[in-house]
Amino acid sequence: MPIHSKIEIIQGDITTIGVDAIVNAANASLLGGGGVDGAIHRAGGPEILEACRKIVARQGPCTTGEAVITTAGNLPAKFVIHTVGPIWQGGQNGEPELLANCYRNALQLAVENDCKSIAFPNISTGVYGYPKDQAAAVAVAAVQAFLKKSTALERVAFICFDAENFSLMQRILQSTN
Ligand code: ADP
Repeated sequence: MPIHSKIEIIQGDITTIGVDAIVNAANASLLGGGGVDGAIHRAGGPEILEACRKIVARQGPCTTGEAVITTAGNLPAKFVIHTVGPIWQGGQNGEPELLANCYRNALQLAVENDCKSIAFPNISTGVYGYPKDQAAAVAVAAVQAFLKKSTALERVAFICFDAENFSLMQRILQSTN
């Protein structure tokens, strides 16, 4: 299957998406927060937080760009992959590479757990302040590069909560096809 037909852009709420794994834009504590993180824990129930606590007790906080996997609790997905995006500090502090690591590590973890489908929010573009156009370019490039190397995933969806991310993502994806 050609790579571009595996990628889709959807406007909506990631907690409603029935894929093998949804990705959470978490913070290092993995203890929940606002934005998409809060929405995932609210909709998924306490099982997700319990699993996060165990991970932190075992390995400490999650560093920027890394990813961990838990149950999805009551969500329609099977797993939640929690990754910590970079906080935007002007772009000279490794932000693009760290953001790309989030996508790569989440995709890798999905494959290792036999997932065929995964859905991402627009990591770091909320409270963490990453410029949406630049984040969209990093996201699309990282996913396309991964899908070129690994054929295990059949579907990668970007779930854009806001209209600006939705149109930016569509434009960037079209420009690469
Ligand atoms: P970060 O701290 O990584 O910036 P945020 O949760 O503040 O994380 O924002 C990341 C993105 O997630 C933003 O583009 C925001 O609009 C989006 N978002 C918020 N709620 C949801 C949701 N329920 N589903 C999908 N995306 C969401």
